[in-house]
Amino acid sequence: MSVARAANLDPLSRSTVGVTPVACVVGGGVAGLTAARDLTKNGYQVHLVEKKPFLGGRLPKLSRVYPEESTGSELIKDLIESAIGTGNLNIYPASEVAEVEGYVGNFEVTIESRDYMTEKCDGCAKCEEVCPVEVDDDFNEGLTKRKAIFKQNTFPDKYYIDPETCTLCGECVKACPPGAIDLSTRTANVSCGSLVVATGFEAGDPEELLKHGLGSHKGILTTSQVERLLHKEGPTSGDIEKHV
Ligand code: SF4
Ligand code: SF4
Repeated sequence: MSVARAANLDPLSRSTVGVTPVACVVGGGVAGLTAARDLTKNGYQVHLVEKKPFLGGRLPKLSRVYPEESTGSELIKDLIESAIGTGNLNIYPASEVAEVEGYVGNFEVTIESRDYMTEKCDGCAKCEEVCPVEVDDDFNEGLTKRKAIFKQNTFPDKYYIDPETCTLCGECVKACPPGAIDLSTRTANVSCGSLVVATGFEAGDPEELLKHGLGSHKGILTTSQVERLLHKEGPTSGDIEKHV
């Protein structure tokens, strides 16, 4: 019966569509940056969308990476510089993809950006002093605290506002001498032919580790926390004994 049915089928028609030579990469960690670098080097325009206000994901937290034994920050810096050097990279920090429309090869992407810091920032730190929001510093795996507005050794090298914890109270805006903070949310619409989703991973839920004593003693740590303590730019400048 199937053979008889197949004899009556019409052949599939082949259609061709143009492809916009632009890519949208979601995720600014090592996977997203590697994709962005390779695409930009091959002549494609790339829109790189990262949820955090800085690039690099988890890699800049690492003290030494096999086999080069470079720090994670050094590896990320090389990746970013080679992608930026092509002149084909647009970076959207503190941003998320709000909507995707279109079809294969021709997508319309809406990017929502909460990158509140502008180029006017001169690094005076007055905003950090007045910010009332203090949270666990996720870059240091909760071993230290930071404000909702903060600075750390990642790219771009500037003050960041964490849109996840900022309450939009406006205290930093009042304290900022050059008026470098703009607390508005902006949207951008970009056309692209391909989407790369490189959103990384989350470490295991630390709640599961409570039964092993995590949180009850300073000496009980996750592997990620040990890595931060080993880092020469970490909370103890690389000296674990300073922690316990
Ligand atoms: S607006 Fe956000 S970053 Fe600025 S002071 Fe308030 S909580 Fe802190
Ligand atoms: S945002 Fe304003 S107050 Fe904060 S470091 Fe930059 S210039 Fe100084």
